Amino acid sequence: VVIVGGGPAGLAVAGALCLRGRSVVVYEKSTYDAPRAGETIGAEAFEALRAIGAWSHIRSFVDEQIPLRAVLSAWGSGTIAEKSSMLHPLGEGRHVDRVRFDSSLAEWARSVGAEVALDAGPCTVERTEGGFVAVPARGAATAARAFVDASGRGAPAGAKLKERRWLALDRQIAIVARLRGGAELGFDLLLEAAELGYWYSVPQANGLLIVALVTDSDLARSARTKAGFFEALGRAAHTARRCVDRACEGDLRVVRADSGILLPEHGDRWWAAGDAAFSTDPLSGNGVSRALRGALPLVERIDAELAGTETSPSSAVGQRFADYLDTRASYYALESRWPNAPFWARRRPAPWRDAAIHLSPETLLEPGSAVRSRLARVEALIPPRAIAKALRSVRGPTPAHLVLETIREASPLGDKRCLIGLEMLIDSGALDRSEKTN
Ligand SMILES: Cc1cc2nc3c(=O)[nH]c(=O)nc-3n(C[C@H](O)[C@H](O)[C@H](O)COP(=O)(O)OP(=O)(O)OC[C@H]3O[C@@H](n4cnc5c(N)ncnc54)[C@H](O)[C@@H]3O)c2cc1C
Repeated sequence: VVIVGGGPAGLAVAGALCLRGRSVVVYEKSTYDAPRAGETIGAEAFEALRAIGAWSHIRSFVDEQIPLRAVLSAWGSGTIAEKSSMLHPLGEGRHVDRVRFDSSLAEWARSVGAEVALDAGPCTVERTEGGFVAVPARGAATAARAFVDASGRGAPAGAKLKERRWLALDRQIAIVARLRGGAELGFDLLLEAAELGYWYSVPQANGLLIVALVTDSDLARSARTKAGFFEALGRAAHTARRCVDRACEGDLRVVRADSGILLPEHGDRWWAAGDAAFSTDPLSGNGVSRALRGALPLVERIDAELAGTETSPSSAVGQRFADYLDTRASYYALESRWPNAPFWARRRPAPWRDAAIHLSPETLLEPGSAVRSRLARVEALIPPRAIAKALRSVRGPTPAHLVLETIREASPLGDKRCLIGLEMLIDSGALDRSEKTN
């Protein structure tokens, strides 16, 4: 089995497959030398590490990391609410150094028999007659019977497999700074909503405070410079207080943080794992746990399919993603201080489930003249790319059912959601009802 991506998902699957006697090669583009996002992991992750057999290897490292005592959040108001880890049934999580966490998992995977090729550069995978060939930018290629895409958001490693595509729900990014110095770091994750998005900050055992602004790639462009970042930080009172007397170490980093899904998430002898299958808003704070918890069920399916005892059952990932969108919307609905700010409008869908449908399929639609900013509420229902495709498909009078078809194809998230989204495109003025009749 060839696995591309040496993050938690790829390494957990690699080790667990080896423990079942499979021969595994992992390609990781980096040498774990650059900082990685996703520092706070819940105690569910430790359970998953026990289940795959990696806990005894990684435990001493985890024990050295700063415990997650509480999540402090200014979300929905400027006042901090505290959720203590004492209330968590599995106990405290940890703020881990992700570089060391991921490289320790790689050591474990090697120790149980996986060949882990680091510094491979971007690796791509193509189908061959007998299975797949993985071609790294650096080093030798590997032929394999099966392929696991664990290359993270966007699933870039399997981009050459034509039967799949990545559906990004939004354009979310995180701008991340590493600060050193100042007073005691404490033990808490601090979350603070702001007009541009939200801030989070977490302590690290090496004395750094990680501070991130989560926003959309087309917003807060000036916050990509240090001056702009710290200016925006100054408006987030609680986070700014935590950063007093701390200096920025190294450059700011901009990382993808979009919610997205691979459609489909598996095919003939290939599977996606972790973020490559389904990635969520960092707000959910459970990406690492999900990546680790998903490993054993996936390994069972891979093993069974390779042994010829089972074909992959159809996946319920589409339903899981739809459920996730509802959960995400419920969290964003808790914050109503900036109803017209694009970041928030894009995440607070209109109540579409019970909305009446007024549009007739034969209604002819024409290009409208709405400016982009009026599309924010529509983006809460259908992704920006699907909106762009729908608008491009209307050059002259076009029946509504054809535009709906374009949206459904670009965003298979359920018919009602797409239909109400189309009606909102008309209400926003991005599309007009034509005077002509069909
Ligand atoms: C800003 C931010 C904050 C987050 N905070 C948290 C948090 O607090 N708690 C939490 O649990 N989760 C958090 N997450 C999510 C978490 O980081 C991910 O869910 C988790 O890392 C998923 O693991 P993975 O192995 O699927 O993917 P990744 O960790 O992304 O690993 C993918 C690996 O593939 C490698 N790779 C990519 N492309 C190629 C290629 N073509 N060839 C070879 N190698 C390749 C990458 O170098 C990487 O090592 C956060 C995410 C972001 C963006």
